[in-house]
Amino acid sequence: MMLRIKRVPTVVSNYQKEDGNEGSRRGGGCGRNCLQNCCLQDACLPLYAFKKVDSIVSKKKGVGVFEYDKGEPPVAFLDSLLLGEWEDRVQRGLFRYDVTACETKVIPGQHGFIAQLNEGRHLKKRPTEFRVDKVLQPFDGNKFNFTKVGQEEVLFQFGASEDGEVQFFPDAPIDPENSPSMVAINVSPIEYGHVLLIPRVLDCLPQRIDRDSFMLAIYMAAEAGNPYFRLGYNSLGAFATINHLHFQAYYLAVPFPIEKAPTKEITTSDGGVKISELVNYPVRGLVFEGGNALLDLSNGVSDACICLQENNIPYNVLIADCGNRIFLLPQCYAEKQALGEVSPELLDTQVNPAVWEISGHMVLKRKKDYEEASEENAWRLLAEVSLSEERFQEVTALIFEAISYRSCVIGTDSENLLEDVNVEHQLVEEVNAINESSHQAMVTGNQDCLVLH
Ligand SMILES: [Zn+2]
Repeated sequence: MMLRIKRVPTVVSNYQKEDGNEGSRRGGGCGRNCLQNCCLQDACLPLYAFKKVDSIVSKKKGVGVFEYDKGEPPVAFLDSLLLGEWEDRVQRGLFRYDVTACETKVIPGQHGFIAQLNEGRHLKKRPTEFRVDKVLQPFDGNKFNFTKVGQEEVLFQFGASEDGEVQFFPDAPIDPENSPSMVAINVSPIEYGHVLLIPRVLDCLPQRIDRDSFMLAIYMAAEAGNPYFRLGYNSLGAFATINHLHFQAYYLAVPFPIEKAPTKEITTSDGGVKISELVNYPVRGLVFEGGNALLDLSNGVSDACICLQENNIPYNVLIADCGNRIFLLPQCYAEKQALGEVSPELLDTQVNPAVWEISGHMVLKRKKDYEEASEENAWRLLAEVSLSEERFQEVTALIFEAISYRSCVIGTDSENLLEDVNVEHQLVEEVNAINESSHQAMVTGNQDCLVLH
């Protein structure tokens, strides 16, 4: 059986309409000034080359003031570039509506859920069927993808600096051989500065996490150095609508409820990454933070994501606190929806619980829902998104198995091996303790791992 849901797709690009409109031709190419071969010759876009930092050591009080490990002054340039270019696209009328005119409020209560009334986001689009039971699907060049956007929707190219310093080139050629990563506007923004980060856009990667792309997203969060700038990721089956690898990001000048939720520590990996579980939050999820280096954190989370997608478990990711704190949330709402297990009352709101909603920023389409928004309603919706406790522990065990397996395969030093084994035993014990020994079979992977050595 194939599971599908009908929903109104979000229009993220003005070129997504696919209505056969040729548009006016501008100096050759296909006339759209797109990111495909027809239009890339001699094309230039700004290039922001970020400095690869190993870790963010300390955090000062206040917003956007961070110290990097080498005592560098905080770099506000990415912020101002991004917002400056974004404003420019507002002036050029590229957005479908004025997001600053959307009403927003913090819902009274303990958690501070944020409600936004956004009536413009879903107008003029018919519901489309989405397959929700396959987290990994091959890239399909016939469907809308980001190589089809107009270059005016791209704000800048984003890549690692070659000489280790931040650099900016206002007019850098687009090198198709090198498939640049790009930051583009989302023409249906849900907040100020809403953009898409599209890793190696010309490589046409499907929506799936890999280690390098995830590291790129973390670098962007670290480089922005602004805790109000978060990146998010939705897998297929967890409300991603475009099967072309992308992250979203925007500024919201209040803490997300998920960031304020208490956590219970589960373990610390050998890379120093602390892994906890959310408590007293409607959606069950894991929190990854710290690490000896940003790479430890990034690899830990991306390996967990890879495990989920390989096991066909839909999930969302929130990258918060300048890349220092990452939330991983497996979910099952679309599956429930396809199986007819979601109450009509919740379905009526047409809220798609993707990463932002799960994090506590509820984007509501109907004035009625906005006016009646309450903590209780938000909680009820999000609770439907969450895995059950039993399933969550099962999935957590799978993730821990994957993480210990990978770090074990990668660790080659025989001296470290004993240490690794000890850490893993500890880890397995802890996972088992949580599982109340009901899923022990799922965390025995480190034995296979030893055989590999
Ligand atoms: Zn073209």
